[in-house]
Amino acid sequence: MTLNIIQGVVYDRPNTYQLETSAMLLTITTTHTPATDLGYLLYKHPDRVQSFELNFGQAHVFYPEATPERCTAALLLDINPVGLVRGRGVSTFALEPYVNDRPYVASSFLSVAISQVYGTALSGICKTRPELAETAIPLEVKISSLPCRGGVGMLKALFEPLGYIVSAERYLLDDTFPAWGESFYYTVTLQNTVRLTDMLSHLYVLIPVLDDDKHYYVGSDEVEKLLRHGEGWLASHPSKESIAVRYLKHQYSLKREALARLEEETPQIEEESTEHDAEEVKIEERVSLHQQRLGTVLSVLKNSGAQRILDLGCGEGRLLAMLLPEPQFTFILGIDVSIHALEIATDKLRLDRLPPKQRERIQLAQGSLIYRDARLKGFDAAAVVEVIEHLDPPRLAAFERVVFEFARPHRVLITTPNVEYNVLMETLPAGKFRHRDHRFEWTRAEFQTWATGIAERFAYQVRFLPIGPEDLQLGSPSQMAIFEAMPDTLGK
Ligand code: SAH
Repeated sequence: MTLNIIQGVVYDRPNTYQLETSAMLLTITTTHTPATDLGYLLYKHPDRVQSFELNFGQAHVFYPEATPERCTAALLLDINPVGLVRGRGVSTFALEPYVNDRPYVASSFLSVAISQVYGTALSGICKTRPELAETAIPLEVKISSLPCRGGVGMLKALFEPLGYIVSAERYLLDDTFPAWGESFYYTVTLQNTVRLTDMLSHLYVLIPVLDDDKHYYVGSDEVEKLLRHGEGWLASHPSKESIAVRYLKHQYSLKREALARLEEETPQIEEESTEHDAEEVKIEERVSLHQQRLGTVLSVLKNSGAQRILDLGCGEGRLLAMLLPEPQFTFILGIDVSIHALEIATDKLRLDRLPPKQRERIQLAQGSLIYRDARLKGFDAAAVVEVIEHLDPPRLAAFERVVFEFARPHRVLITTPNVEYNVLMETLPAGKFRHRDHRFEWTRAEFQTWATGIAERFAYQVRFLPIGPEDLQLGSPSQMAIFEAMPDTLGK
């Protein structure tokens, strides 16, 4: 089986009677060395062709090229329109027997295939190469016969904000009759340096959005899928509204639900929920909980006299933006695992437009806080704002050693939600965490037990501060631990 043969069966003529089966193709190429590690990330061995039964046909995975320098995995979908017409699977277009383009294009079938065939990679898990799964690597994706009803403009509007270089080649409606004009089908190439899990999530959500049609009924579980796979990027995407509308097949109540829940991902939701009596407070005087949190961190840092500051899990750079104007902070290093967040931070802070002297004071770098990192050494203070709850509990021990044993700044400020307060947050459904990516949320006692344990093990002193309006019984919405290294332990 070679690529050429396969591309030969990718149909570009919709709305004509077709053969009983046809195919579409998604290839993923990396030049990250050794490139064959792509096989580990995808859980598909480069030496084998593997086939999978899906309820609308078959999927095959194989590697047209697999060298240490360059490796390509191909996912070939072989869709059986007859099977579809017989009503296998939930299919609204079963009513349009044989006369439709669905089987021949990269519609939402491709998303389903991605989730079923590359499900582990999609979720970001790789047991054999965990570091690589966490790393942004150069990836090139090619999708044949991608329907794109909004044209190249739409394609670019969806993928460029996520950092992709987009190129597209348009199909003629019928290549034997060019006068019929051009179709809305494209062969699309996307290039980016991203984590594979992020790239697959982008494709999973955006392919059906481009197609603007779906082969299955859209119910509220689609909102879950959209939010799960949109996590970390959709909330800040400039086209999030049209993505939600199209993904949810123009069902506006679902769209509203999705957008409202996306808002929850941004800190402002806490502002709304903790300040519901805002009528009494003049708009300009309202300070969001996150601003209060960052303000507290800033003032503790300033009062401590710290000069060299680490912002661990800096995200989109909200704290960095507050640190930068303060001349006391002579060097600031922001670290985050998400390249996308760092790109947003770079934009927001206008790093490329800072005068050279200012520019030297700040640096952003990708890194994961669960791996020992020499770049983190030699700082006066580290801020870890709303980050620990994003780490899997079994990883916390590694995080503790990275920060308190290896980096060992004089001070460490850690903030995290106080779960006891959640019942007072009106927009938060009972039992839900404040953010979809939170792996846990702790009570004050749980946080204090954890932090006190760290202080004992790593020779720090710790004290606690509430952040936000305090309820007599439930405490404040957020909590902070301030660690200070015991004087005689520094420099070790
Ligand atoms: N501190 C920022 C962002 C908080 S959101 C703020 O207050 O605005 C949590 C951040 O932690 C995200 O940007 C996420 O990418 C980052 N993060 C999650 N796991 C991480 C890890 N293992 N290493 C580094 N950063 C991580």
